[in-house]
Amino acid sequence: MNENISKKYFDKFVKTKIFRVSLSIILIGIFLNFAFPLPELKEYSQVIYANDSTMLSAYLTHDDKWRLETKLSDITPEMVEAIIHKEDKWFYWHFGFNPVSIVRAFISNIQSGQRVSGASTITMQIARLMEPSKRSYLNKILEIFRSLQLEIYYSKKELLEIYLSNIPMGGNIEGVKAASLLYFNKNPKKMSLSQSVLLTIIPNNPNKNRLDMRNESVVAKRNKWLLKFKKEKIFSDESIADALEEKVKSHRYSVQNIAPHFSQVVKESSNKSEIFTSLIPRFQLKSAKQLKNHVERNRGKSVTNGAVLVIENRTNSIVAYCGSSDFNDSESSGQVNGITSIRSPGSALKPLLYAKGLADGIITPKRIILDVPTDFSSYNPENYEREFNGEVTVEYALVNSLNVPAVRLLVKVGFKPFIKKIKEIGFNEIAKKENRLGLSTILGGCGVTLEELTTAYSIFANNGILKKHNILSNQAIQKGRRIFSEEASYLISRMLSSSGRTESPNLVSSVSKLPNIAWKTGTSYGRRDAWAIGYNKNYTIGVWMGNFNGKGSPYLSGSEMAVPLLFNLFNSIDYQNSSNWSEEPGGISMREVCKNSGLLPSKKCTDIVRDYYIQDVSSNQKCNHIVDLYVNNNETETYCLSCLPKNNFKKKEYPHYLPELVLWYKNSGVNFVSPPKHNANCEVLGSKNNGLMIISPSPEFEYHLEKNGNQELMLLATSNTDVKLLFWYINKKYFGKTKIGEKIFFHPQNGFNSIHCVDDKGGERSMNIKVKFY
Ligand SMILES: [Zn+2]
Ligand SMILES: [Zn+2]
Repeated sequence: MNENISKKYFDKFVKTKIFRVSLSIILIGIFLNFAFPLPELKEYSQVIYANDSTMLSAYLTHDDKWRLETKLSDITPEMVEAIIHKEDKWFYWHFGFNPVSIVRAFISNIQSGQRVSGASTITMQIARLMEPSKRSYLNKILEIFRSLQLEIYYSKKELLEIYLSNIPMGGNIEGVKAASLLYFNKNPKKMSLSQSVLLTIIPNNPNKNRLDMRNESVVAKRNKWLLKFKKEKIFSDESIADALEEKVKSHRYSVQNIAPHFSQVVKESSNKSEIFTSLIPRFQLKSAKQLKNHVERNRGKSVTNGAVLVIENRTNSIVAYCGSSDFNDSESSGQVNGITSIRSPGSALKPLLYAKGLADGIITPKRIILDVPTDFSSYNPENYEREFNGEVTVEYALVNSLNVPAVRLLVKVGFKPFIKKIKEIGFNEIAKKENRLGLSTILGGCGVTLEELTTAYSIFANNGILKKHNILSNQAIQKGRRIFSEEASYLISRMLSSSGRTESPNLVSSVSKLPNIAWKTGTSYGRRDAWAIGYNKNYTIGVWMGNFNGKGSPYLSGSEMAVPLLFNLFNSIDYQNSSNWSEEPGGISMREVCKNSGLLPSKKCTDIVRDYYIQDVSSNQKCNHIVDLYVNNNETETYCLSCLPKNNFKKKEYPHYLPELVLWYKNSGVNFVSPPKHNANCEVLGSKNNGLMIISPSPEFEYHLEKNGNQELMLLATSNTDVKLLFWYINKKYFGKTKIGEKIFFHPQNGFNSIHCVDDKGGERSMNIKVKFY
């Protein structure tokens, strides 16, 4: 019954004229909306902010305008109040246009015979800003249509923000925010009432009212409006009195550019008009100032540039980024970004190799490693000081950046496994050139960036976990990816930390306070690059010093040129941080090792020291630095298994050295305890036989090897004849060929092993060696 009644009324209504007219209007409106869609909003300038919303940089739009997006929350409430009162009192009430004022304006235009003017609402002004056109009645109608569209598409707040972002402010400045920054050098939220009112006046005639030109007439207009506002009681009498007093400076500032290289990187990573980044302004300003001063001080030493990167470890965010010492110094190519430039790292990659050696169980801090001239298939690395140290501990070799031990370790760890690790960390240039790189990679024969190196060192600060750094603010903290075991990272940090380092006090004499950090330097070949990368629990800081034109300087060394700046940066960014930056992980323990080898002591070892090791990882190899040799009763001859007489011999202990070390001792005149000469009549090692001699292994003593330690013995032979190639047989099976002097390694079996070597001139030697597994 009820339904029938409403249906009847409905049918009746549908037949009315009002309904048909309204329906047609709606349909025409829909048609027009599709036929003439609203133009897109104009592009805004990209603005880069620091993590506390300080503006770092802004960029011109593609049409070369400073058009910064302005939100209501970005500006003073007085500004909003003033502009609405001045331009469109009924803004919140109308639907795009105000019929009353249009009619009023139309009548007054006809009466005065002048052109169409006035009566534009804020929405209609937006329509005109979107599609500038001549003022005519037709265009006015179009504007009204566009205003209706705008009101449908956007809320009143959005419309007001579009208006405040786009109003012309003279020259290439558009919008309140850009005007506030460029005319007043002020955050628009901190504008005075006078400044707010001035900005409402400029758009009425932007090129005449520009504030950076003569501005008496603008000030007069400001005062007129202020008095009007006083009359309408929009602002308090006191604030109006103050505003009337305020002087107006005619000036145009430039947009600030706090971290130019960083902002460029951020800009290239996003199209957003507002980008909030992780940068911390006080760290940025400190770093930039210290870098600039440091470069200025060293200009006389032909060092013209540098770069600094600071990463906060907890969030893995970039907090300071100085790509050069002065972006605006074109003479020193200040616009080049030293953080992403590819340079030679010198020794700066070494900690990554030592970390892998520790994680693989190959080394521990007190393990002895040889620093003697070594031929790595015709590659002969030298130390920086061109001197060798003989036997050194791993920690000494790392901290003093010795080259031979690093290359020896690289051979042990394996070039391919090491490069695989380096690629996992994200060294792109090394990954690209992988096939062209060799053992010299560890001494800087490759290309890296400061960004890559700093990221790599932050792995140690994060207990072995790699996290890609953030450039945006409030990014979620990543879980990251494990690169090194926690234990290996801990040991590297201990070795590299200031508390564990005693070397070269002169390099830190220029710094008043030694920060509690772990650090490593790098100096590239030809003294072209000086690096220092350091970290504590809170921050990882990377420093590069050098010249963008690649010129070297005798003063460019990591410890002399980069370390003082690194220390100063730590002292100013994380002053007096005394917290222990790393806790000892569960897998770390101490054990007693033989001082002569860093290996587990055998019964014969007497110099015992304590050393860190990684449980179930570090090698349990036993020291054999003292071996039992068979000698005659006078101790003038040694015997081996093949020449041992039936009687008249005894066993005596002698230190056992690797052949390279013996050679180096002899060449450099170092005194060392050596066993007497071998039995001259021996067929295996005797001196009466000219020609082929097996240097390693030795049949003179028993080898004690870890059962599952995967230990290998070295095969090495020399000859005083013109021999080039050697062929090796182990336990009667062909094993491999080498050049004279070249080393290869084999896995011996428990008990006796027969070694047979034949040269290409028909000479041959064989021996039996004895191996005991424990
Ligand atoms: Zn020992
Ligand atoms: Zn012998």
